[in-house]
Amino acid sequence: MFRSIFNIIFLIGLIVYLFTIYMPRIRQYKRGKTTGMQSSPLDVALDFLAFIGWMLIPAIYIFTSWLNFADYSLPDWLAWFGVLVFSGSIWIFGQAYSALGNNWSPRIEIMDEHTLVTDGIYAYIRHPVYSAMWLWALSQPLLLHNWIAGFGLLVTFLPLYLLRVPREEQMMLEHFGQIYQIYLERTGRILPKFGDKDRS
Ligand code: SAH
Repeated sequence: MFRSIFNIIFLIGLIVYLFTIYMPRIRQYKRGKTTGMQSSPLDVALDFLAFIGWMLIPAIYIFTSWLNFADYSLPDWLAWFGVLVFSGSIWIFGQAYSALGNNWSPRIEIMDEHTLVTDGIYAYIRHPVYSAMWLWALSQPLLLHNWIAGFGLLVTFLPLYLLRVPREEQMMLEHFGQIYQIYLERTGRILPKFGDKDRS
């Protein structure tokens, strides 16, 4: 089953993310009131696609031998570098989810009593959740040494990222107007923008 310590680290990271970061938030979300907006079929498809590369294919890779034909090998130091990037991803997920609080949603929507978060990690990056996803996607081929399982998320997350971010920013602009415009100018999309710290 486990070809290397790195597969175990990946699995532990996934469990830590799901149980300590994602599940508490989604539970809170389900309890809260929302605008009642429905996800479009496209959104459902994009989420499912990312889920395939993020969790389903890695699980198949770790627990079966079906994908063994596509294995490759990597020097250990590179895989340990992957562990570092992977840990950074989980840390950013934690920071972002806790800063967003009840404004978090698995969809793109304005919640009841939605506030614009501009502090914590959101003071530097507008989409830290997506930054964390990209870091995870980059570390995955360093931890799962397989062409399909390793690169799965890079491929399946790209459409979600490209289609969702512009719509999300458009929605935020429409809802928060000038305030979001200013926020937009002083933050980076997925890479931090430092220096402009005038938060008045
Ligand atoms: N794209 C963000 C948030 C993902 S969660 C990220 O990558 O970190 C998706 C929800 O977050 C959306 O419904 C949106 O309404 C909300 N959101 C995004 N940025 C926000 C912000 N700065 N303050 C409050 N809510 C935000």
